[in-house]
Amino acid sequence: MSYKIMAINAGSSSLKFQLLAMPQGSTLCQGLIERIGMPDARITLKTPAEKWQETLPIADHREAVTLLLEKLSGYRIIRSPEEIDGVGHRVAHGGEIFKDSVRVTDETLAEIERLAELAPLHNPVNALGISVFRQLLPDVPAVAVFDTAFHQTLEEPAYIYPLPWRYYSELGIRRYGFHGTSHKYVSATLAEKLGVPLSALRVVCCHLGNGSSICAIKGGRSVNTSMGFTPQSGVMMGTRSGDIDPSILPWVALREGKSPQQLNHLLNNESGLLGVSGVSPDYRDVEQAAEGGNRQAQLALTLFAERIRATIGSYIMQMGGLDALVFTGGIGENSARARAAICQNLHFLGLIVDEEKNRQNAAFIQAENAMVKVAVINTNEELMIARDVMRVALTETVTQRVPA
Ligand code: AMP
Repeated sequence: MSYKIMAINAGSSSLKFQLLAMPQGSTLCQGLIERIGMPDARITLKTPAEKWQETLPIADHREAVTLLLEKLSGYRIIRSPEEIDGVGHRVAHGGEIFKDSVRVTDETLAEIERLAELAPLHNPVNALGISVFRQLLPDVPAVAVFDTAFHQTLEEPAYIYPLPWRYYSELGIRRYGFHGTSHKYVSATLAEKLGVPLSALRVVCCHLGNGSSICAIKGGRSVNTSMGFTPQSGVMMGTRSGDIDPSILPWVALREGKSPQQLNHLLNNESGLLGVSGVSPDYRDVEQAAEGGNRQAQLALTLFAERIRATIGSYIMQMGGLDALVFTGGIGENSARARAAICQNLHFLGLIVDEEKNRQNAAFIQAENAMVKVAVINTNEELMIARDVMRVALTETVTQRVPA
């Protein structure tokens, strides 16, 4: 028995989708609708065998989803939209309410909209994506999968900021953490590959992409993570600074007359690899410039690795040891240089990387004599979303439909 599950990531002017056959986890079709709201919007669909692309006006998200469903049938990827058994939606923020993925109801949708206060750029458009699918496929179960939910296992010392208490109790200012779907998928995959239950492992997972976060996972539970109240905190990223002395902000605001919005832009869009290197937010470009002798680019790469090392170190202290370190995300999966820089001089921890395996992006890159496993795992948030749709919304149907 196979189910067709759609995984959706709705942005303000884009909609990413992937249709998966579950429980096999194979991709039937994936693609993107871009420039929604523009006369020259673009839809791209890819199956393992074919690719289609079309430029046309798309007025809004409702039109985008209608078009997507038409194209899926038109290109005979599915016979009709009724063949879709479930839809999973990526939602940025679940606050303290959503500790796991949930089946969407009118109440859960209202909560997601209410949480826009914490994620003003993302939750409203995630909620819009959910609403449109519910209107067009009213009988198909919808599941919301939150970027924050995996980290709801953090305990108070990991999530409380040392501010006056009312900032937590009245305004909800605390560490929430993000990239949860990726950290959850990657740690589960690691345990599968090792043939060891996740409950027996202490893992640090490094999701290193345009946005980067580190997560400490003990016994399968997130016990700490580097992103915080917003995705701005923690390690240095493509255009985000990560942690800095917080007093820099009021100082710069007074000195340069910057507004809160301008400070946000400075921290989120002008800093990180781009800010230090002056070259690019893209790790590959910075690597290339560093190899060409650009001193600031070299410093940017060193800073990037050092801040990750400091975070990993603190998580090893918190967990009382480490069984496995995992790399994922565009940089983590592909850059041998980044992995080598992060893992250098850690022999004293039993963490030793084999240079050749690292160069080859092997699944495990630790040396023969290493105590700590070092894994490279391609993240797959869409598969995790589809699994959660199966678990949350289709379990009953699955048991009913699976022949005895
Ligand atoms: P993501 O946000 O996960 O798509 O990751 C994007 C980041 O991965 C960018 O900084 C890219 O430069 C980086 N990246 C992708 N491929 C490579 C590669 N082969 N070597 C180094 N960095 C890479």
